[in-house]
Amino acid sequence: MSKLPHVGTTIFTVMSKLATEYNAINLSQGFPNFPVDKELTKILATSATENVHQYMPMAGFQPLLENIGKSIEENYGRKNNPSTELLITAGATQAIFTIIQAIVHTGDEVIILDPSYDCYEPPIILTGAVPIRVPLSDDFLPNWELIEQHISEKTSLLIINNPHNPSGRIFTETDFQALEQLLDKYPKIRLLSDEVYEYITFEKKHISVNSIENLRKKSLIVSSFGKTFHITGWKIGYIIAPEVLLNEVKKVHQFLVFSVNSVAQYTLSKYLEKVDVKSLGTFYQTKRDLFRKLLAGSRFRLLPSEGSYFQVVDYSAISKEKDTDFCIRLVKEHGVAAIPLSVFNNNGKDQHLIRFCFAKDDETLIKACEKLCKI
Ligand code: PMP
Ligand code: GLN
Repeated sequence: MSKLPHVGTTIFTVMSKLATEYNAINLSQGFPNFPVDKELTKILATSATENVHQYMPMAGFQPLLENIGKSIEENYGRKNNPSTELLITAGATQAIFTIIQAIVHTGDEVIILDPSYDCYEPPIILTGAVPIRVPLSDDFLPNWELIEQHISEKTSLLIINNPHNPSGRIFTETDFQALEQLLDKYPKIRLLSDEVYEYITFEKKHISVNSIENLRKKSLIVSSFGKTFHITGWKIGYIIAPEVLLNEVKKVHQFLVFSVNSVAQYTLSKYLEKVDVKSLGTFYQTKRDLFRKLLAGSRFRLLPSEGSYFQVVDYSAISKEKDTDFCIRLVKEHGVAAIPLSVFNNNGKDQHLIRFCFAKDDETLIKACEKLCKI
C-alpha cells in the first residue's frame, strides 16, 4: 500500500514537460531563464581547480556559515552565532523535509495555509502527523482567527510562507503582531517560516522572522540560494534556528545528506563577499512592471504581486473551465504554460486563478504576452 496514495507527479514537472512537448513558452515552473552573474561563474570555474572536492563539515563550510551570518546581521540587524544557529541544506525542499521529520511527532497536527506550496504536506504525512489545511483569506493574507480555531492540543508546528508562493502577497506588520500574540498564547507551537523569496519584494519591505526576537526564539527559518542568485539548479539553501532546535534537525540531516555539495558551498562563500542582495527587489520589480504593462490590454485580471517572481491572474472573463483544464488548453492552443492554483488547495478548490512566473528575459515576456493578449 502506498504511503502517499494521493500524491502524483508535481504540477511543476507536469507543466514543464507539457511546455517542452508543445514547444510553448514556459511561464509555469518558477526558474529564471537568463544567465547568472558572470562573477559567480568566474568564481565557480576557479573553485573547480582547487582542493574542494571532498566532504564538507556536516553543518556546512565555516566561511559560508560566517558570511551568511554577516548577511543576516546586515539585512535584519540580528546578531547570531553561525556555528550553532545555521545549517546548509540541499535547497529549501530538503530543509523543510528535514525540519518536519526532526521536530514533528506521530499524531501531531501541523497547520499549513492554503494555497500552500506543494512540499509541505507529504513530509507531514510521512511522519505520521496530520496536516491541518487552513485557507488564507480571499486576498491571500492570513485569517488569524480562523487559524486559531484550528489549533488543538496536538498542534506542534505552524508553517508560513512569506513572500507567498503562489500569490506573491507579503505579510504586514499587523500580521506579525497577530502571529506573535497567537504563539504567545500557545507556547508549545513552533514556527517554520519559509522565506525563500526574502529578497524579492517590491513597494513594501519584507519582514523577516529574523527581526522579531519573540518569534525567532521558537522558529526555524528557511532560505534558498536558488532564488536569491538565480541558481535553482544548484539546490542549496539553509536553515536559521536556535541551537536547541537546530541540533534536532542536524540529527536527521546527517542521515539524509550528511553534508551538501562542496564546490557550491565554497563558491558561494566567496561570492557572498562580493554581491549585494539589496538590488534583487528592484531587478524583479522592473520585470513585474513590464509583465503587468504587457498584460494590461488582455482579458486576464491581474491580482496584486508584492513579492516573489509570480503574478496571479483571474481568467474568468475568458473561460469558465477548471483551472487545470484551462492551463492544459493554454499550452496546447496558445503556446504558453502556467500553473493552476487549485493544486495548492485542499480538495482542489478552484477559483479560476493561474500563476505566471516572470523571472524571464524581456524577449520571452514580450512574446508570451503577445500570445496571451490574443486570447
Ligand atoms: N518554498 C517555496 C515557497 C518555493 O517556492 C520553493 C521553490 N523553489 C521552495 C520552497 C523550494 O526551494 P528549493 O529549490 O531551494 O528547494
Ligand atoms: N518553486 C518552484 C515553483 O513554485 C518549483 C520548484 C520545483 O519544481 N520543485 O514554481
